[in-house]
Amino acid sequence: MSDHQPSLFDREPAPWEHDDQASRLVATVVFVEGPEGEFDYLVPDRLAEEVGIGKRVRVPLGKGNRILTGYCVRVEHRPTGGRVLKPVGGVIDSVSLLSPAMLRLTRWIAEHYLCEWGQVLEAVVPAGVRGQAGTRLTTLLSIAPDFSERVKGLKLAPKQAVALKLLSDSKEPLTTAELARLAKCTEAPITALRRKGLIQAKARRVQFAAVAEQPVRRLNHLALNPDQRIALDAILEALNSRRHQTLLIHGVTGSGKTEVYIQAIQELVHFGRQAIVLVPEISLTPQTVQRFRERFDHVAVLHSHLSDAERHWQWQRIAEGRVQVVVGARSAIFAPTPNLGLIILDEEHEGSFKQESVPRYHARDVAVARSQAEDVPLVLGSATPSLESWHRAQTGQYRLIEMPRRVLDRALPTVGTIDLRTDDHARHSRGAISRQLHTAIQDALKQGGQVILLLNRRGFSTHIQCPACGSVVRCPDCDIALTHHRGEDIALCHYCDHQVPTPNVCPQCSFAGIRYSGTGTQRLEAEVHTRFPGYPCLRMDTDTMQGRGSHERALAAFREGKVRILLGTQMIAKGLDFPNVTLVGVINADTALHLPDFRAAERTFHLVTQVAGRTGRGEKGGRVLVQTLNPDHPAIQAAVRHDYAAFAEGELPIRKMLSYPPFASMIRLVIRGESETAVGQFASHMAQELTCILQPLGAGARVLGPAPAPFSKLRGKYRFQIQLQGPDADQLRQSVRQLGPLLKPPDDIQWIADVDPLDML
Ligand code: ADP
Ligand code: ZN
Repeated sequence: MSDHQPSLFDREPAPWEHDDQASRLVATVVFVEGPEGEFDYLVPDRLAEEVGIGKRVRVPLGKGNRILTGYCVRVEHRPTGGRVLKPVGGVIDSVSLLSPAMLRLTRWIAEHYLCEWGQVLEAVVPAGVRGQAGTRLTTLLSIAPDFSERVKGLKLAPKQAVALKLLSDSKEPLTTAELARLAKCTEAPITALRRKGLIQAKARRVQFAAVAEQPVRRLNHLALNPDQRIALDAILEALNSRRHQTLLIHGVTGSGKTEVYIQAIQELVHFGRQAIVLVPEISLTPQTVQRFRERFDHVAVLHSHLSDAERHWQWQRIAEGRVQVVVGARSAIFAPTPNLGLIILDEEHEGSFKQESVPRYHARDVAVARSQAEDVPLVLGSATPSLESWHRAQTGQYRLIEMPRRVLDRALPTVGTIDLRTDDHARHSRGAISRQLHTAIQDALKQGGQVILLLNRRGFSTHIQCPACGSVVRCPDCDIALTHHRGEDIALCHYCDHQVPTPNVCPQCSFAGIRYSGTGTQRLEAEVHTRFPGYPCLRMDTDTMQGRGSHERALAAFREGKVRILLGTQMIAKGLDFPNVTLVGVINADTALHLPDFRAAERTFHLVTQVAGRTGRGEKGGRVLVQTLNPDHPAIQAAVRHDYAAFAEGELPIRKMLSYPPFASMIRLVIRGESETAVGQFASHMAQELTCILQPLGAGARVLGPAPAPFSKLRGKYRFQIQLQGPDADQLRQSVRQLGPLLKPPDDIQWIADVDPLDML
């Protein structure tokens, strides 16, 4: 184990240190699958040139000298202090996969999110890059360096002479096949030249899966309005200062934020620097991508559908500095831009920026760390900023920029609520669409407009319940109510995909009148067909949008007006810009409001505000109708009035009172296993230990729980949770780190730590 504590200020050895007799070249290695920590190895002379930081190496470990792969995180001449080090066995990568800056960032992630450095490294470098997907090893020929010496006095056959001439005229090395083709000969003369030492051969990795860049139509700058101008100037000021600063642009939907990003990036591209633009995966629509392609020659788009070869190709172009703008989802924050100038994170409130598997990082926080380390500005943009970012802007950590108006003086849509409690609805309509919403849809369609309907629940019926015995059909592994999907006639668990044929009689009491109730998008689609026959309607949810390109095709059909009513889950709430949408209907604003999650109100506010933003983008204006059982709820009231500040002012004091983020840090521990009692006992044990560690430290840290998690059983495992809350994030982290060696869980119990959790279920 290395006794050398790494720090951000690791220095190069001074020249005289190299001269020290006892000083040897030492590589420090971190394993992906192997023991945690850093391990030192001796670099044999034959590998001294090849070895380098950010490359993977093969090294022996343990008594049996098992060969493991690890990342080389440091290479330096230093005295070994008499320790006998094992030698590095081989170097895997010809080029470094991670720059020193990226290595420091990954170590920060490991420390911040309580995971192993090796796991972070493996997550950051895509599999396609590690495996060099889309490349192969070829032999490349060039003229030998001592060619003029050797050729003296040799008499070459005519074909050999031709081949030799062609190769020496070629600017680049050629493969045997290429040279044979050019010289119109077989491989024999070339082999002869190699034998004579006139041609040298080198193995080189070449790309065979280059992907053509999309041709672009260049568009010019839009003239900015005053709000946009102010925002752009603020970013330019930060850029010119060459210092890190985080700017939060709070701009209503359609205020022209994207145009500001584009013009800011144009500025730094002049200086040969690159920008990273992060958007939620779901907004990586052709529409967004096209806007960047229209304005920049070299754009790399990183989305989850890339093949390994495409990803590798993009990674290489980025690393070589040939890309001006990287547009991508969460993991694009790790793009290996050599000369980063700016990071932009749009829709910064979006939960999809957090990864829900190890490493459980939040791209926004990684973006803060990366932009700090590289001393570049970070721009966060949203119509509904997360309360975390808002609070930081209020307290001066971020610079706040307001863009309260839509471009071209377009009005924000008027938002009205429809109170589902009034029996008016019950008397006059059967189904999910109230009479008032029905009329509004009819009017919008008659006037040639398009309609978006949001319902954040997929399937046909959201629960299947027996009216005789009251039992609800649940997933045996997850204890979650199964959703009836009509087409396939199955009852499906939306968590683990467990499915059974939809029961006709109650599985508990055999009563024949079992009821399917609660509306999902499938049922809503059927209702829309019945109510508005003749108007083409399209459903967008994860069930209908599974094929590659289905999302694009659906949006294209809607844009072209072939579809008049678009209905779906939150998938349709984000980022879409269709001028002809004159009505947005929210079928049920309350779906997320009562979840046992301290962000339930915030999520509801975001969803309603975001979907409302999909209308009124054209000259026709637009309106929004929100169906709810809670029309007076502050989150819904604030969304109706487009009043973010009021929402924040109402919500923040509650967070403060309960010591929730952004006023305190939080770590959520989830403990799971097959025996409910054993899991519960182990969780209690953990909570006691944590209390013992934290209590003496004071500083107001709290251990909440253990308690059964809201989803108390998933995939056959019982789940308990412990919540750590406190003002000192490092202290909380430290307590969890100490826990590891203190208590080993039994074999059939696992636990995870989620730092700054978003998922509270
Ligand atoms: P946001 O990202 O804030 O939702 P966008 O940048 O998408 O807003 O702008 C909304 C629409 O307004 C887009 O169609 C965009 O092309 C257009 N737009 C943006 N800025 C201007 C401007 N200064 N003049 C005219 N149109 C603009
Ligand atoms: Zn399940």
